[in-house]
Amino acid sequence: MTSETNYDVAVVGGGPAGTSSAFYAAKLGLKTILFEKHPYPRPKPCGGALSSRIIPLLGKEAVKAINCEIEELRVFSPSFKCLSFYNVPGYTVRREEFDLAMAKDAQNAGAIVMDKCRVKTIHQLPSGDYEIIAETATVTAKYIIMAAGFPKNALIRSPFTREEFEDDYLAMTVLSETPVDNKIMVDVNFPAKVMAIFFGAVPNGYAWYFVKDGYVNIGIGATALLLKDVGAVNAYKQFVLNLKQKGFLPKDLELAKERAFPLPFKRTVEKSVFGNVLLVGDSAGFVSPVTGEGIYYAVKGGQLAAQAIAENVKNGALLSSYHYNWKKEFGYGLDKYGYLLREILYKSKRRMELAVSLGMHDAQMAELLKNLVFGVYGYQKIFWKALLRLPVTLIKTIF
Ligand SMILES: Cc1cc2nc3c(=O)[nH]c(=O)nc-3n(C[C@H](O)[C@H](O)[C@H](O)COP(=O)(O)OP(=O)(O)OC[C@H]3O[C@@H](n4cnc5c(N)ncnc54)[C@H](O)[C@@H]3O)c2cc1C
Repeated sequence: MTSETNYDVAVVGGGPAGTSSAFYAAKLGLKTILFEKHPYPRPKPCGGALSSRIIPLLGKEAVKAINCEIEELRVFSPSFKCLSFYNVPGYTVRREEFDLAMAKDAQNAGAIVMDKCRVKTIHQLPSGDYEIIAETATVTAKYIIMAAGFPKNALIRSPFTREEFEDDYLAMTVLSETPVDNKIMVDVNFPAKVMAIFFGAVPNGYAWYFVKDGYVNIGIGATALLLKDVGAVNAYKQFVLNLKQKGFLPKDLELAKERAFPLPFKRTVEKSVFGNVLLVGDSAGFVSPVTGEGIYYAVKGGQLAAQAIAENVKNGALLSSYHYNWKKEFGYGLDKYGYLLREILYKSKRRMELAVSLGMHDAQMAELLKNLVFGVYGYQKIFWKALLRLPVTLIKTIF
């Protein structure tokens, strides 16, 4: 329970977006409080893959919470042709541990972190400040960072406008994370630190199989509308069966109970600043439409939100700079080129087969595929580089 009640910034939600916002806001000298409805460590269904560009943005505890550095990426085509990459720029985390570590970084930077404390309502006071009524505390704050995750959350939709998500703008994901002895994974040639992507393992989507240090994380994801006929859980179960039948997964390994979870898969929000309320992370649709990667965008968005508030406090700079900054940093690339790449790649199994096949015949195209998976550089650059390289790749493939 906090005895103080007036804050510069109140952050709603303690995932990567909220903890990063609180970490940076506190570092910038803003009096900050964060509310998380679950007690830490809290489970969060997630693959937990990180691209290396996130590392410079993280605090010490979050870096310590990295589970492993990925040693090999395997990209499978729908017919199980495999493209392998070594020395890949990626890591894996377990979200329970990672999000807790990020909350500790925020706390170490000076933010108050209140877990097990759901925000119930938010009112704007006549002074213009906001009153935040949470389960065990009521505080006021000049700014709110809304980082409450998936945008169907009622707190985000009302009163801070967020359009309803249609099924074709939603990804449905199903996954499990199971503790495992590293040794038995060597027997199936999927040792720890191998990350595999299976294009087309579900209709118009992909499945993943990440072998972390001591855990296997298996999941599927695709547009909710396209998974409706098959059923998302059925698609996941079929994928697990395929892994076992192909000898990729120990036959007698009993996986943890799977969990289904929706993910925003639309373009990012058109508006992210409402008065002194800023939307960040999944709440703002900061998710790659190609891979479903959201942790990097959540963390970067949190940093940009905190910086915009600090500038507003210091010299009255417009808060709307936040919107332009994230758009410039990653929003434009996600919305235009990410969307285009998704449409091109996932349209049919034949296209996914072709993408892997092109990578198998041309090392430069393969490099682009790897950079796409790890978001090494923006989708705009990947799109144009792939387009320019395509004639050479096609010649190499045909001859
Ligand atoms: C199955 C699956 C696999 C994924 N795999 C990857 C991956 O491998 N790599 C990657 O980069 N991304 C991945 N993502 C995406 C990534 O998980 C999200 O983009 C990321 O978690 C977004 O962070 P966030 O902080 O915006 O939201 P969240 O992580 O959802 O955090 C929001 C927090 O707000 C809290 N909250 C909600 N309402 C309230 C309230 N009223 N009061 C207080 N607290 C509240 C919630 O409890 C939650 O802890 C995956 C997503 C799914 C569903």
